[in-house]
Amino acid sequence: MSSHTESQRYLSTRGGSYDFSFEEAVLKGLASDGGLFIPEEVPSLPSNWESEWKNLSFEELAFNIFSLYISPSEIPPADLKDIIHRSYSTFRSKDVTPTVTLDEKRNIHLLELFHGPTYAFKDVALQFLGNLFEYFLVRRNEGKEGEEREHLTVVGATSGDTGSAAIYGLRGKKDISVFIMHPHGKISPIQEAQMTTVMDANVHNLAVDGTFDDCQDFVKALFADPEINSTHRLAAVNSINWARILAQITYYFHSYFHLARQPSFTSHSAVRFVVPTGNFGDILAGYFAKRMGLPIQKLVIATNENDILHRFWQSGRYEKKPVHGNEAAGGEPLDGVQAHESGVKETLSPAMDILVSSNFERLLWFLAYDVYSTNSDAVAQRRAQAGDHVKGWLDALKSDGGFRVDDMIIEAARKDFSSYRVSDSETLDTIKKVFTSITPGYVLDPHSAIGVAAALRDTQQDADAEAQHVALSTAHPAKFANAVHDALNGEKGYSWDKVEPEEFKGLEDKEKRMTIVKKSGGWQGVRTIVVKEVEAER
Ligand SMILES: *Cc1c(COP(=O)(O)O)cnc(C)c1O
Repeated sequence: MSSHTESQRYLSTRGGSYDFSFEEAVLKGLASDGGLFIPEEVPSLPSNWESEWKNLSFEELAFNIFSLYISPSEIPPADLKDIIHRSYSTFRSKDVTPTVTLDEKRNIHLLELFHGPTYAFKDVALQFLGNLFEYFLVRRNEGKEGEEREHLTVVGATSGDTGSAAIYGLRGKKDISVFIMHPHGKISPIQEAQMTTVMDANVHNLAVDGTFDDCQDFVKALFADPEINSTHRLAAVNSINWARILAQITYYFHSYFHLARQPSFTSHSAVRFVVPTGNFGDILAGYFAKRMGLPIQKLVIATNENDILHRFWQSGRYEKKPVHGNEAAGGEPLDGVQAHESGVKETLSPAMDILVSSNFERLLWFLAYDVYSTNSDAVAQRRAQAGDHVKGWLDALKSDGGFRVDDMIIEAARKDFSSYRVSDSETLDTIKKVFTSITPGYVLDPHSAIGVAAALRDTQQDADAEAQHVALSTAHPAKFANAVHDALNGEKGYSWDKVEPEEFKGLEDKEKRMTIVKKSGGWQGVRTIVVKEVEAER
């Protein structure tokens, strides 16, 4: 690790690309070899970070952290500050991501990540990514006119939260069009309203008369299509984009300092972050914070019934489906969960319903780098070896549906992480328990409840009694009305009116704009719409 990064470069986890700039990594999204971009060096913190950073605001912290990953020659400091300011002044809380104490007795805190424009944690990253895209394009287009100007066409699929956060991050941005596909009528009314009531000319909602998987297939087909790629610069906003991970590192520091300012906190206080996890993006940012030097004792993974990560930490096998029925998963029965054709289960926490976690590949690279090489190897060789290992594992995932890692790898993974799996019924119980007794009146959303459930279990099982647990709260409860009703209907003091924010009231009745897309028209039908609507916009 270098203490100071004059020029931060990026490489692909599968070893096929090195020496990319931050801008290239962000605009490309995915590396050409199918791998994900990571920084060539994880920067370590300046020696006086703890005293110097302790009282900084969220924006100031973001600036200090981002500066370690983005060379000043790429984005001059004044510009970076401006991008950060524009990204976080849209949040409703002056702390941007406040930490509140949920359970004083057990030292459980909540890091509230839902104060952005769409009321979910993805805003923290997508507000920043939208401004970054615009900044790069404006710079590339300086002095150019008309057809000469570079234009970015963002294409994505959503089953709910990502779509609205992406639309709010990109609405009204110059030289960028955004197309978000969702399964028509299959997302919650409030999520649909959040997306389709945005009237900016560069926002295009495509409602597909199929499933989320159909939408995702269309996106993949477009990215693989030479024809549209020869005329349009396509970009992705899903959680594999490096800038999204980077943006999420800030709140681990921000929350740590909040705890550190409490009188009872000492340098011996262990801090454990508990993260409701789907694609492994949110918790991976915590891993970067830890690797940089933030004293995090453990990162605790909390999954729902889609538990590939939990099974990995139990068994060292990463596989789409467990081989021995449910044994490898810890033996608890799976209650009342429906299985998709693809193997994904529908749960009360849909943003975590995944088969494989795309960002896990980034952790695998660091595990291989640490375990399989020695310091006497040249650094270029160590990196290449790590890339080879990752490529081998990911190839096996594709061809055999899974792979097993060596004991040394799983042991290394267990040093930094532990994991819990939480069922739908425990999720509902937790919402109820918090509301009625732990912090009377506080309403959790189902994703956040999974984190709190895991934190409660962790206080009983793994952690020392003094440990401080911070559970990440990833969405506002009003976004998941059904689960919240199921948990709290009839409880004294509960009313939907108090849960629902003013901004949501009447949203479903506002004017909506979307294009209905027939699945039978195939991805070529989508291509025709994209080309036509971009043309009309320019
Ligand atoms: C996306 C999302 C998650 C999962 O985050 P990952 O980075 O995919 O692990 C959890 N909760 C909510 C509400 C989300 O939108």
